Amino acid sequence: MLDVQKIREDFPILTREVHGKPLVYFDNAATSQTPQVVIDAIVDYYSNYNANIHRGVHTLSQEATDAYEMARKKVQKHFNAKHTHEIILTSGTTHSINIIATGFTSLLSEGDEIIVSALEHHSNIVPWQMLCERTGAILKVIPMNEDGELVMDVYDQLLSNQTKLVFTNHISNALGTINPIEEIIEKAHSVGAAVLIDGAQACPHVKPDVQALDVDFYVASAHKLCGPTGVGMLYGKEEWLNKLPPYQGGGEMIEQVTFEKTTYAGLPHKFEAGTPNICGGIAFGAALDYMNGIGFENIAAYENGLLEYGTQKLLEIEGLKIYGTSKNKTSVISFNLNDIHPYDVGTIVDKLGIAVRTGHHCAQPIMDFYKIPGTVRASFSFYNTKEEIDALVEAVKKAKMMLS
Ligand SMILES: *Cc1c(COP(=O)(O)O)cnc(C)c1O
Repeated sequence: MLDVQKIREDFPILTREVHGKPLVYFDNAATSQTPQVVIDAIVDYYSNYNANIHRGVHTLSQEATDAYEMARKKVQKHFNAKHTHEIILTSGTTHSINIIATGFTSLLSEGDEIIVSALEHHSNIVPWQMLCERTGAILKVIPMNEDGELVMDVYDQLLSNQTKLVFTNHISNALGTINPIEEIIEKAHSVGAAVLIDGAQACPHVKPDVQALDVDFYVASAHKLCGPTGVGMLYGKEEWLNKLPPYQGGGEMIEQVTFEKTTYAGLPHKFEAGTPNICGGIAFGAALDYMNGIGFENIAAYENGLLEYGTQKLLEIEGLKIYGTSKNKTSVISFNLNDIHPYDVGTIVDKLGIAVRTGHHCAQPIMDFYKIPGTVRASFSFYNTKEEIDALVEAVKKAKMMLS
């Protein structure tokens, strides 16, 4: 089990106060907090070996290149990719998805079909709509049920020889539902479709094995895994990454340039035009080391305890309804209080030092399904405690009293 008091000492921000109260940070599904080892990696880079990578023969450039490429190896190992060059370092999940969505433009034709899930984040809807506009492909949606789960029978019916791509998140950021991605991948492959999994919300809680999943593409952001913002990853199977064209043109991604013709660099550089977020990549590696040091099994077991406790305590409040009631879910609780607007609840609990998210969580189709403007979302991490959940429950009770 985790020594949570000791873990909390790793996060300097957790000692601060908000409106004179100790900070309770329950907005982990939007971004995680940063442990000192990751902050140290950032400071160390800018203090000691800040230089551009890959091009320089001088010592600092070599040190920066080695550290950046070491980070890529850490990402490879973490996700169990077969080859290091199957890991593209990007600016985050959104960037990673756009690389694939743009790349597929030349591979799709009119009448081809793309299947997405009803539980998607906007970053996993809009790029596909744009791809459909460019190619004449058709977007189909796997619907959801009241519990916030995908209706897999309908998925079976949507699949056909026309299906070229299937996209879903691994875990829903709005509701916490863990989607049956093994089944989704296997069935997509049976009709010859490629699968991209958005792991942005899964990676803080589980350690995906891309080879065991046999997934074609898997994407995530460092900032939800104790790393910095503006950096993330794209895993793609070698044969797919070779097939797709580059996303951006520029430095780093070329082999040879003349005004007549340019040949592209091999993987992974073909997809890494321009100077990347070097420091961010190195800090991403440090964040993976930190989380693996704690252990994902320990993290999941502890967070499940928080989820169970929080669910039970919040449901004791009369008039409180939780959205997303799948048995298969992670530590995200999305709720509303009678017909009080979520924004009003969020504002009052903030005055009590508690950070929750309110709104549609970049997943408007889910809110439309429930016919609500949004929810209050409390998302727990391994550095949160039951005492903090007690503080949230008290704050929600207070909000209810003030607003009803
Ligand atoms: C956060 C999130 C994204 C977007 O990640 P960015 O880091 O903003 O690119 C996409 N999908 C899911 C499920 C997320 O939780």
